[in-house]
Amino acid sequence: KGSGKAQWSLFHDVMDIDYRQRQRLKADLREALDKGELFLVYQPIVDLRARRIIGCEALARWNHAELGNIPPSVFVPIAEEIGAISDLTRFVLITATRECKHWPSPLRVAINLSATDFRTTDVTEMVREGLRKTGLSPERLEVEITESTLIEEKQAVSKALSELRELGVGIALDDFGTGYSSLSYLHALPFTKLKIDRSFVADITTSERSLKLVSNIAKLSKDLDLTVTVEGIETEDQLDAISRAADIDQVQGFLFGVPLPRREIAELIERVSFAPGQTIRSRSGKV
Ligand code: C2E
Ligand code: MG
Ligand code: MG
Ligand code: MG
Repeated sequence: KGSGKAQWSLFHDVMDIDYRQRQRLKADLREALDKGELFLVYQPIVDLRARRIIGCEALARWNHAELGNIPPSVFVPIAEEIGAISDLTRFVLITATRECKHWPSPLRVAINLSATDFRTTDVTEMVREGLRKTGLSPERLEVEITESTLIEEKQAVSKALSELRELGVGIALDDFGTGYSSLSYLHALPFTKLKIDRSFVADITTSERSLKLVSNIAKLSKDLDLTVTVEGIETEDQLDAISRAADIDQVQGFLFGVPLPRREIAELIERVSFAPGQTIRSRSGKV
């Protein structure tokens, strides 16, 4: 995946860490969860028409005492490998839902689930328990899964998603367009949202093809009654191109906000939610 992680960490990709570093991280991850080295940041998700924050995506971070910031592209696969993914996911679920309770009421929080969650845990039970514990209304929670998760754990995923939908939890198909993108999933599974991967946005100002893809995925989403979110919008030009070409419901990206720690996201939400007529601005203030 993209270069956005590089500015964050000394590890650019899974490939950049050597065997010894990886062994070190494997040995430290469980304890890191207990020690509180893992925490969440929240990226705003913006309603494009109203220009308002409608929720945030929770993203996990690991600040290792000696090695510094480790990106999720490195530690999530490690958590899966050492059998700690359900602990990580439970931590994310509880922390994110608790945080969301502090936000103004219709605002929602989204968490990411991995294929291994469905293999090793009763995801429905975990979510039900998490919501019970924090008292967040199920409608304010959304889970995101990727296409590869559907391939790997088809049976378990299909069952859990139906149950979660039954509870009232939203279900987003993340990174759409990067995997197998079989349209039959969209039909068979109870998705409420489709998130178009940021790789389409990256070249949207120069690639007619990417533009057409985004606009057609948006049309398809509308036909299927799915909310459509475009991820990874970094520039005004990208936003202009997308707004002109497609009917998009929601946007997410550095242009509107980078992932922020809880205090800062709460401040941002307060600032844009409670001032009358106030809408979220992109960095240049044009939006
Ligand atoms: P994702 O779920 O697709 O999350 C979006 C990623 O894109 C995040 O990277 C975010 O920081 C980045 N991003 C957002 N806006 C922009 C932009 O405008 N430009 C660029 N270049 N990047 C942008 P992050 O936080 O490094 O997460 C990477 C992936 O790791 C996530 O992709 C998700 O699949 C996974 N992940 C993160 N947190 C968790 C977690 O708690 N559990 C699980 N299972 N996976 C997680
Ligand atoms: Mg996601
Ligand atoms: Mg995504
Ligand atoms: Mg992604």
